[in-house]
Amino acid sequence: MPLKKKIVKKVSRKPKKEKEVQEELLLQPPRGMRDILPKDQIYWQQVRRVTEKAAADFGYRRIDIPVIEFTNLFVRGVGSGTDIVEKEMYSFSTKGGEKVSLRPEFTAGIARAFIQHGMHVSPKPVKLYYSGSCYRYERPQEGRYRELFQFGCEALGEQDPIIDAQMIQMAWRIIFQLGIRDVVVEVNSIGCPACRKNYRNLLVSYFESKRQKLCIDCKKRLEKNPLRILDCKEDKCEQVKANAPQSIDHLCEECRVHFKNLLEYLEELEIPFELNHSLVRGLDYYTKTVFEIFPRNLEENAKKSALAGGGRYDGLIKMLGGEQTPAVGFAVGMDRLVSEMKKLGAKYYREPKAKVFLAQLGSFAKKKSLKMFEGLERSGILVAESFGRGSLKSQLKVADRLGVELTLILGQKEALDGTVIIKDMTSGTQEVVDAQKIVDEVKKRLKMTGTIIKTI
Ligand code: AMP
Repeated sequence: MPLKKKIVKKVSRKPKKEKEVQEELLLQPPRGMRDILPKDQIYWQQVRRVTEKAAADFGYRRIDIPVIEFTNLFVRGVGSGTDIVEKEMYSFSTKGGEKVSLRPEFTAGIARAFIQHGMHVSPKPVKLYYSGSCYRYERPQEGRYRELFQFGCEALGEQDPIIDAQMIQMAWRIIFQLGIRDVVVEVNSIGCPACRKNYRNLLVSYFESKRQKLCIDCKKRLEKNPLRILDCKEDKCEQVKANAPQSIDHLCEECRVHFKNLLEYLEELEIPFELNHSLVRGLDYYTKTVFEIFPRNLEENAKKSALAGGGRYDGLIKMLGGEQTPAVGFAVGMDRLVSEMKKLGAKYYREPKAKVFLAQLGSFAKKKSLKMFEGLERSGILVAESFGRGSLKSQLKVADRLGVELTLILGQKEALDGTVIIKDMTSGTQEVVDAQKIVDEVKKRLKMTGTIIKTI
């Protein structure tokens, strides 16, 4: 008997599978999407800090909603005739056959959550804030991405225009605090469904009389969404738009007073604003107030792209099946804030720097240093290390490069004795101290040199 079993190669009777052709692996994200690398995070962190501080200061609480919602939420909420729903959504069917879309914006999802969780019984207004990514299949260009990040606030259950003013104040303050000082707030009122109906008819008959002069898209908009013609940036449409009827001349009494009060509040707040009669915003759910904030210091021929936008949407909650709930909100484009900050050389977030370096030598000391690092770090002392390096010389080089004030050296002898060497990097003096007291010893020395200790 042979010791080893003979390995018999099985001969497959099936025809040999054709070699699978591997698709080329593109080492990049899809178009219009990108990585935000650590070197840029200092700007993003600044945006996150300033926005979250504003939210807290104005009494807003965070809400997170899924990136994916049922497609018909956006079709109903945002509007089927809008560019976002018609052309820009990432929609697909799940394996279970559900028709879903990546969120192109947050407001519809937040309105859905407001209804679903019965927030209408909470004290009004319900003040919510969010931040995260949205997805729009737009043509990518400078400042326009397919994956974009927004921070925004929504106040639900309040109809007083003072809250519209407060929304503009918040968006404006965020932008200002990020060092973007030269901006203009453009405002308009597009009225409520009652007065808009009238206005819409006037607009349609005006544009009908100029039909030949409109671009192809606007000819279509004339049937579906005539207000959007006012938003068109085509030269030929710009000319026609110039003499179009203006919504603020056709507001009902309630909408007129609402808008007048809003402007008075803005004046009181000393926020520089301009009326823009063409500002309609792309989405169906807006009522009364609409606004956008633009950088003013545009270079010649630079494309105007908004840093923030928002408005009132008094009909959305009811339209989605909830109770009549007036609401208002805004979103800032985080990508655009970051790029504007970079352009202006604005202040960014400075990461706290370690003042202490922990070096180790020998396998026993290496083991002990892990625990010592934890002890220091837990006491709020920011410590740097380079544990992977074997030689003390190369570790000290790193300590030097980091510009720390103290280096702690844990050698084999110190590890056995329960001690540690503290080296003052400025004077070069060294002292052996009890390892049990290392936290106090470090704190004492850092305080002596006036160093701020990390607080947790
Ligand atoms: P919207 O509700 O569409 O006005 O969006 C609010 C803000 O998000 C805008 O004022 C922009 O700052 C930003 N934003 C919108 N679309 C994009 C995009 N495709 N890429 C980058 N930022 C965007």
